[in-house]
Amino acid sequence: MNRKTWRDRDLAVLWHPCTQMQEHLDGAPLITIRRGQGVWLEDYEGRRYLDAVSSWWTNLFGHAEPRIAAAIASQAQQLEQVILAGFSHVPAIELAEQLLALAPSGLSKVFFADNGSAAVEVALKMSYHAHLNRGDTQRTRFIALQNSYHGETLGALAVTDIPLYRRTYAPLMMQPGFVPSPDAWLAEPGESAEDRAERAAQALAEVLQRQGEQTAALIIEPLVQCAAGMRMHSPLYLRRARELCDRHGVHLIADEIAVGFGRTGSLFACEQAGISPDLMCVSKGITGGFLPLAATLATEAIYQAFLSDRRDRAFLHSHSYTGNPLACAAALASLQIFRDQDVLGANRQRAAALARAAAPMAELPKVGEVRQRGMIVAFELVADRANKTPLPTVGRYGQQIYRAGLERGVLLRPLGDVIYWMPPYCISEDEIGHLGKVTQDALRVAFSA
Ligand code: PMP
Repeated sequence: MNRKTWRDRDLAVLWHPCTQMQEHLDGAPLITIRRGQGVWLEDYEGRRYLDAVSSWWTNLFGHAEPRIAAAIASQAQQLEQVILAGFSHVPAIELAEQLLALAPSGLSKVFFADNGSAAVEVALKMSYHAHLNRGDTQRTRFIALQNSYHGETLGALAVTDIPLYRRTYAPLMMQPGFVPSPDAWLAEPGESAEDRAERAAQALAEVLQRQGEQTAALIIEPLVQCAAGMRMHSPLYLRRARELCDRHGVHLIADEIAVGFGRTGSLFACEQAGISPDLMCVSKGITGGFLPLAATLATEAIYQAFLSDRRDRAFLHSHSYTGNPLACAAALASLQIFRDQDVLGANRQRAAALARAAAPMAELPKVGEVRQRGMIVAFELVADRANKTPLPTVGRYGQQIYRAGLERGVLLRPLGDVIYWMPPYCISEDEIGHLGKVTQDALRVAFSA
């Protein structure tokens, strides 16, 4: 069956996520993938695409990674799904044990869900409810960072500050306080990333001074605000945020959904600041990118706040596929790969190769900054580099680069006018070289058009 036929059949029945479907009806590319292997996706015409975005930041070790595939197949013959209330299963127990052993200290219980937004919902509800169970009825507010992204369900979207996603639904949602982001790109001339972090921490301190007693939690994407355009900040901010939360009895929620499992160079981003959150959300890479699974890790103090002989003090939250055994088996196989191979060490070499491939782009006139944290590299496109003036037509160049990338066999999916690489950890030096060359070509095409 050829691609056109698949395209027609697709558009007759599918409504794609995060997509203005009219663009496809008007002819925007829609590629049907037949199979994946390593960093490559292959369509029905045999065209190959280097997956530079790890399929929405989920894939860790390549598509169709055989060890994870085998673990899922074997689990499927044993137990595919079981209710997790009143019942348990060994993959969930083992995965919880392993996650807690790897996570920042102080986290002692794992609550499973099945996608990142759900893990955020769980963290928000748990935080509020834990305060409530301790008799603190005032803490009904949340604080999030400007330009934050925490998901698309109403609670997670409420603590998201990206207008494109949030604005339309704003009348439906709780109103958190959005505090200035430590984002180093937003530093004033002469200000370092640390200065920026200190200034943002000062703003947080002032908000907590006023509203600390009404605040349940501060939610943060540690080190990289990915959806905002891979905006990066100093670990200093996380240390300051931890201190401030402690001072005001506010929980710190670390949303490690995008940055967890080695993306930023350490297994979890919080490690680079030496802090432990009260609640930590993980998803995406947890299964190596094979199956939907999420977890919210909580401290013993939060867990204890729910123990009671009263039912309404319990955390009565559930999703049907909570802790699905197949997903847990995939996650266990993925963690086994971390144990069998020095993944983080090998990624340091890969990150250096990515830096070398990215360096020539810094010379291009419309590239305002090339920034990197571990396996994440981003190119901030600007009209004018000296004063960081954004491009006049937000996202237009990004779209052109997306198309130019596809024509050259690379899946780049710009965030507005930020181009980024977040490839699977199996990417080779040659593939990195290819990615660099195609990205440069795509930038040239977009800016000479
Ligand atoms: N938090 C962060 C930091 C994310 O990047 C995302 C997804 N991009 C989410 C939450 C939501 O995860 P999901 O798409 O699985 O709901």
